This record gives sequence, C-alpha cells and structure tokens, in this order.
Amino acid sequence: MDRYSRQQLFAPIGERGQQHIREKHVLVIGSGALGAANAETLVRAGIGKITIIDRDYVEWSNLQRQQLYTEEDATNRLPKAIAAAMRLRAINGDVVVEPIVADADACLLEQVVARERPHVIIDSTDNFDVRMIINDVSQKYDVPWIYGACVGSYGLSYVIVPNETPCLRCLLEEVPLGNATCDTVGIISPVVHMVVAHQTAEALKICVHAQVNRKLVSFDIWHGQYRMIDVHKLKKDDCPSCSERRTYPALQYENETKFAVLCGRETVQIRPAHRGEREWTTLLSFLTKRGIQVEQNDYLLSFTVDSHRFVVFSDGRVLIHGTNDVQEAKRLYYQYLG
Ligand SMILES: [Zn+2]
Repeated sequence: MDRYSRQQLFAPIGERGQQHIREKHVLVIGSGALGAANAETLVRAGIGKITIIDRDYVEWSNLQRQQLYTEEDATNRLPKAIAAAMRLRAINGDVVVEPIVADADACLLEQVVARERPHVIIDSTDNFDVRMIINDVSQKYDVPWIYGACVGSYGLSYVIVPNETPCLRCLLEEVPLGNATCDTVGIISPVVHMVVAHQTAEALKICVHAQVNRKLVSFDIWHGQYRMIDVHKLKKDDCPSCSERRTYPALQYENETKFAVLCGRETVQIRPAHRGEREWTTLLSFLTKRGIQVEQNDYLLSFTVDSHRFVVFSDGRVLIHGTNDVQEAKRLYYQYLG
C-alpha cells in the first residue's frame, strides 16, 4: 500500500477514501490536453477503472501539451485513446483502462453511460455540442459531470450534480463560457494543468463522497486573475435538460450522414449514417486499382489524393484534411468512399 501512502495521509481521503477511489469508474470524454492530464492524474491516484473516448489520432502539434503522447505515437498516427491506454497501463497496472476510438456522439455516449454507469464523467472535449450531449446524458442517468475548458491562458471549470446544481444549459445565456478554440488563439500548457487540477480535485471529492465546489471557477493564469462565480440562482424552471419538463434536446438522434467542419483545422469530418466496421478489403482494392497509395495501421487507413489527405477509421468515420468546404468534402467523400 506504499504506493498511495502520501494520498492516504491527506486526512479528507485517508485509507477509507483510498478504498472508495479504488472502487470508482471515471469516464473521460476526449483525450487531448485535458483528457490526457485528467486520465494520468486519476490513474496515478489509483482509480478503479477509466474509460476514455476519443475520435482523433496523435499529431505533432499535440506533443507540446498532450502529456501522454510521444513522437513515436505521432509518427505512427496512433489513435489518441489507444496511445493513452498503453501509457496509462504502464503507469499503473492495477487500473482497468478501456479505450474507445469513436466520435462521442449522442448515440455512443448514451450507450456507454447506460451500460457502464460510471461514477463521474469528465469533460475534456473542445466541442460545445458534445458538452450539451454530456449534459443531457448526465441528467438522464444521474451521473455528475465536470465541465472544463481552456483557451489561450484562460480556463474554466464547473461541477454539475444532477438534481442539485444548475446544469450547463441553465448557464448558457448567463455566463460567458467562451467559444474561441485553441486552433485560432493558441494555448499554453500551464492553463491546461490548472483546469485539470480543478477537475481532478472535484473528481476525487466525488469518489470519496465529499462535498464538491458548487461555484464556477474561472481564471487567467497569464494575467493572474482568479474568480469563483456563484451560479446557484441560475437554475431554470423550464430548462429542457434538467427541469421537470425535460426533453433532453441533445439526445435526439440524427439518422443521416453528417459533414462537419473541424474549426481552424482545414478538416471536414464525415460521420456516416450507419456506423459499424468498414469493409477495408473492398476499399483497399478500390483505391489501389486507381493507383492510390494507402497507409494502414490497426485502427485507421489513410491516403492522399491531390492536396487532400483522407483518414478512415474502423468505425466508418472519415476525416478529410486540406479543406474546410463541406461541398468539396462531400464530392471527395462520395468519389472515393461513398
Ligand atoms: Zn438546466
């Protein structure tokens, strides 16, 4: 038990708290800078199980702040969830680590939360639509979640406890939650760690059944500002996510192929209507017959046509780099993959 001795010496946790932590399951959505640091901290703290969902693969521009990844991961274009899982298992072999390489859409999140019933969900996405899905799933399945966001040197964190605190949708029009992304204004690594410090402290409190911080925390680490905002009066009686008349708007499923421009990245993501394993052999012969050179690892297949790089994941999802024009992406998608 030496491994956790310092954490157990901390009175609010103690030996009992350590056992509680050991029995808990955390779901981390997104395995970028926030996700990697959240996951590492909780795995080192001795959490029982961690599930990580991420749709992306490791790129060189990630290495500056996404602490679980190496140059080798970027060279091999490993999916982040897989690279994170390998590293986390090496850090603490007692923790059950489950990686899921997929887009955290409403269908998947509801499936995972209904099946696994995690004790807490940590938001490590950079995407507001996904946060609204997490928010609805949290309310529907009564699982607390911890919002976290950072951009530039500015960060935010807030714990949403169903039936106790206002949900994120309640706060939407009241609190400046920010919509810039790190692709447009950049980000420095210390602000990531500040957000993660708040998120993991609150996650540990939930694990040991301690009282969470009910205030929204916001700070600017470069300019030395730190604020705690009391939001308890902002709970809305007619909120479609957390009131008695709730409809969970973010969980209304869509049944069509979706094209989405990934902000600031010159990339369009395509999510086919019918998810499932893509038949790679057919696709491979289709592409090679046209003289297109294909690179492949266990999780994704990629190729370049003109200035466009295609990345095809085994769940059917596709990224087309080199464009942020949906019409052009549609044409390319149906020409090579449709
Ligand atoms: Zn609400």
